Amino acid sequence: MEKIQMTTPLVEMDGDEMTRILWSMIKDELLLPFIDLKTEYYDLGLEHRNETDDQVTADSANATKKYGVAVKCATITPNAARMDEYHLKEMWKSPNGTIRAMLDGTVFRAPIIVKGIEPCVKNWKKPITIARHAYGDVYKATEMKIPGAGRAELVYTAEDGSEVRELIHNFTGAGVVQGQHNLEPSIESFARSCFTYALDVKQDLWFATKDTISKKYDHTFKDIFQEIFDAEYKDAFEKAGITYFYTLIDDAVARVMKSEGGYIWACKNYDGDVMSDMVSSAFGSLAMMTSVLVSPQGYYEYEAAHGTVQRHYYKHLEGEETSTNSVATIFAWSGALRKRGEMDGNERLSDFADKLEKACIQTIEEGKMTRDLALITSIENPVVLNSQEFIRAIRSTLEGIL
Ligand code: NAP
Ligand code: MG
Repeated sequence: MEKIQMTTPLVEMDGDEMTRILWSMIKDELLLPFIDLKTEYYDLGLEHRNETDDQVTADSANATKKYGVAVKCATITPNAARMDEYHLKEMWKSPNGTIRAMLDGTVFRAPIIVKGIEPCVKNWKKPITIARHAYGDVYKATEMKIPGAGRAELVYTAEDGSEVRELIHNFTGAGVVQGQHNLEPSIESFARSCFTYALDVKQDLWFATKDTISKKYDHTFKDIFQEIFDAEYKDAFEKAGITYFYTLIDDAVARVMKSEGGYIWACKNYDGDVMSDMVSSAFGSLAMMTSVLVSPQGYYEYEAAHGTVQRHYYKHLEGEETSTNSVATIFAWSGALRKRGEMDGNERLSDFADKLEKACIQTIEEGKMTRDLALITSIENPVVLNSQEFIRAIRSTLEGIL
């Protein structure tokens, strides 16, 4: 087979530990033999982030703005233990946080569905994608313990010095208060990322808040989504045959449980935190969860939802065999390659991405899988493969498909 050519490079963000090992195996076995791979390479491994004072992370985000599509390996977010382990100059911030802030993006997490790994919720047949607003509310709240009787108020002082006050409560004894905020531009970016992504994957979009109780705060979210939808996306949704659906958060939860899946569920920050853990654990495995950051301008950064699988890496360093699941990382590559193909009108590239995903799914459905899946599959007598064998098994399926 003649290698598939690329016109525009992908932004490649390498990472840490076990996923860094998988990264190079994936390239060697599943990409380089078939594609004349063009990437602009950024090493986001912790050592190199430290050497460059984390400049490499900012550079990789800027490159994503330039080229439009990135693929990222999992990276270590430093904590106290990592400071010693890697002799860090500083406790560098989470690369995902830095990139998300620079691209002003929203993260969409979706499970990879295969026969034999059944969701706990038996009517879920298609993936449910969660989009979490990543700014404000309780995560940027100011709190106070109220020691005893007294008046608590919300006070806004405008730049001209004028004030608006609202009574929170006339306390007769001890209690607590909390002040939350959000920003219109942030909510607008969130809305645009959600509408853009829904059009991209041609799935319905659900959004829910508690606007009946929170008549100003949550209602603002509802209004901004509706205004942007009506003004900018309504016609495109109609053409694509998809819908935007708003409901109350408790109604949404009830409908999600009874649905068969196949839509995007946009959540406010706290709802997204809670619901993404519920949805991902109910679908079976963190190792089968993909993640894509979408900016309101339509830049895409694909990755796996899991971390660097540290425990497996330490085993690997001691020369022990590992059975680490590479599917979510492979899907990060296929997602990015497909998007690159769409943007460049490169059908062979998008078609290869589809086949690579098919090869992963088919390999597992034939009973060949890593240990994490073998523990939860309903397939009888699964063959447990090590990290390398699993990737080679996918290659052999892929060669069959191609
Ligand atoms: P993790 O890498 O997600 O792994 C936690 C556990 O989940 C593993 O020990 C393993 O369980 C299982 N697991 C996750 N992915 C798997 C896979 N592909 N195949 C098989 N099993 C898998 O989380 P962590 O160990 O808590 O975090 C390690 C590092 O990742 C941290 O430094 C953290 O900062 C970073 N992190 C990065 C990202 C990101 O870049 N997006 C996200 C989260 C965490 P068993 O050990 O039981 O086999
Ligand atoms: Mg959480």
